[in-house]
Amino acid sequence: MSDSQSAKRMPALFLGHGSPMNAIEENGFTRAWKKIGKALPPARAVLSVSAHWYIGATAVTAMAHPRTIHDFYGFPQELFEVEYPASGLPELAGEIAELAKPMWVGADHDQWGIDHGTWSVLAHLYPEADVPVVQLSINASKPVEYHIDLARRMSPLRDKGVLILSSGNVVHNLRRIDWNAKNSGTDWAHRFDDAVMEQMTEDPAGILKMKDHPDYGLAVPTPDHFIPLLYTAGLAAESGNARPVVKGYAFGSISMTCYGVDIEDLDCAEGDNAAFLPEDVPADQTNT
Ligand code: ZN
Repeated sequence: MSDSQSAKRMPALFLGHGSPMNAIEENGFTRAWKKIGKALPPARAVLSVSAHWYIGATAVTAMAHPRTIHDFYGFPQELFEVEYPASGLPELAGEIAELAKPMWVGADHDQWGIDHGTWSVLAHLYPEADVPVVQLSINASKPVEYHIDLARRMSPLRDKGVLILSSGNVVHNLRRIDWNAKNSGTDWAHRFDDAVMEQMTEDPAGILKMKDHPDYGLAVPTPDHFIPLLYTAGLAAESGNARPVVKGYAFGSISMTCYGVDIEDLDCAEGDNAAFLPEDVPADQTNT
């Protein structure tokens, strides 16, 4: 058996990314992400499914040097100056397209790069930006089942040293931001987040049942930040288990809960001191 065959299966992660300011702030969430990064086995690459690449096609970044995308509004200049200079891995883009067949995955050579859903958390997992990064778009035109199916097809990459990272938020309602609840969640946010936690830990394959939860409409007013969780659920259903690795809330209507699949020796962290959001721009116009 070669080294690569005997190598341990990489964990998979869902990270609730919250405000892009998490990239440059230090708080309970970013400290937890740093700890997760240190607990991971060496990775060949990161395959990231970010809420912020939500388009009408399935594509992977296939450039050798993806650019850092500053896809948000109203934040301090400092955040627009962050660069995450990880290289790409064009050969991995090819492997992804092969695994996905007969689903079609386009190779993106010049459109996207590394968006803030990816770099705001990778800045803590891999602060040296020394692990290549490939992003997979979320195809907004497909039914939700498609994403679970596609995730299952990506599962073999975990045996080849690829960290499959999903970045979104389980509860994400920017129109319901409560400035007086910086570090807590509303009743409905708790109810939905708790129900998802039960589903993810006990039966991740049944994650779509959450669409029938009475608080789904409030917790998931748009599907972009929830769909990354479907990828982690699909991987958890394929092998192993999912468990929460970080818990916490931001501004009442954002859950910062994070999940790990096949991740060991890591206690669940309680996040605190949620990162800054601009108060002079409506939150739903910040692209947080
Ligand atoms: Zn976001």
